[in-house]
Amino acid sequence: MEIIVCIKQVPNTTDVRIDPVTNTLIREGVESVINPFDAYAIEEGVSLKERFGGKVTVLTMGPPQAEKALREAISLGCDEAVLVSDRKFAGSDTWATSYTLSAAIRKIGDFDVILCGKQASDGDTAQVGPGISAHLDIPQVTYVKKIEEISAASAKVERMTEEGFDVVETPLPCLLTVVKEINTPRLPSLKGMMKAKAAKPLVWTAEDIGADPASLGLDGSPTRVVKIFTPAPRKGGETLKGSAEDVSKELAELLKEIVV
Ligand SMILES: Cc1cc2nc3c(=O)[nH]c(=O)nc-3n(C[C@H](O)[C@H](O)[C@H](O)COP(=O)(O)OP(=O)(O)OC[C@H]3O[C@@H](n4cnc5c(N)ncnc54)[C@H](O)[C@@H]3O)c2cc1C
Repeated sequence: MEIIVCIKQVPNTTDVRIDPVTNTLIREGVESVINPFDAYAIEEGVSLKERFGGKVTVLTMGPPQAEKALREAISLGCDEAVLVSDRKFAGSDTWATSYTLSAAIRKIGDFDVILCGKQASDGDTAQVGPGISAHLDIPQVTYVKKIEEISAASAKVERMTEEGFDVVETPLPCLLTVVKEINTPRLPSLKGMMKAKAAKPLVWTAEDIGADPASLGLDGSPTRVVKIFTPAPRKGGETLKGSAEDVSKELAELLKEIVV
């Protein structure tokens, strides 16, 4: 089974800061880690390989330092690593990011399953996985919490919903985004760490992946972040006191004032 896992390097903080001029994330001075949800995608890819054989290729689009995340993925059992990195990718929105990753996946070649995290902890849009499947014109199942069955031709998975879960069957090749309920990620083994140290991730530019220059980076991004701001803290609420009858009357009067 040929498996591709997409991972993103994110700042190791919940205190995401935005540059007020460019409206982009301030990454300087913040340690980067593998997006927490992508750790579950890596684990699922590696355990599928252990059950069915084949290979796991880990893929990221990012600056040169994203190689660190790829090495970590190798230490966890991935076999090959690809970094797509080019100044032309700067300013990509989720459309351009998923276009770029899909072009890299086409270059990687045959695959059965693409695994992504359900969302990134910095951008948080959960759009890149579905975007990749749209660009590649393959089926997608999001929020997967269990792969019940998988064969060369199809997969049956449980997809988490607010009320419980749906059981979905999809032909392969397909793209799955996973939630943390799917597994417990392993720790790197000593053998894995040695392999990661010796690994040489492939580094591909825009030209290498045959991407259309007009679809890359800021110029290829149909969306723009016009403004980012922290909403003003809400004023404290008002507590009505008294009997249920009195409180209901007072509440009705207050609501009338708001509506009028
Ligand atoms: C309207 C808009 C405009 C933007 N403009 C800019 C900008 O000008 N400059 C800028 O720096 N950023 C910009 N961004 C942010 C940038 O688009 C996102 O960081 C990026 O596309 C990933 O989206 P996300 O973080 O929401 O990931 P999600 O969609 O939440 O990630 C889901 C999954 O997709 C995979 N994934 C996501 N990103 C990658 C990646 N790079 N490599 C491999 N796998 C990945 C992972 O498996 C991840 O778990 C913009 C975003 C939006 C919505």
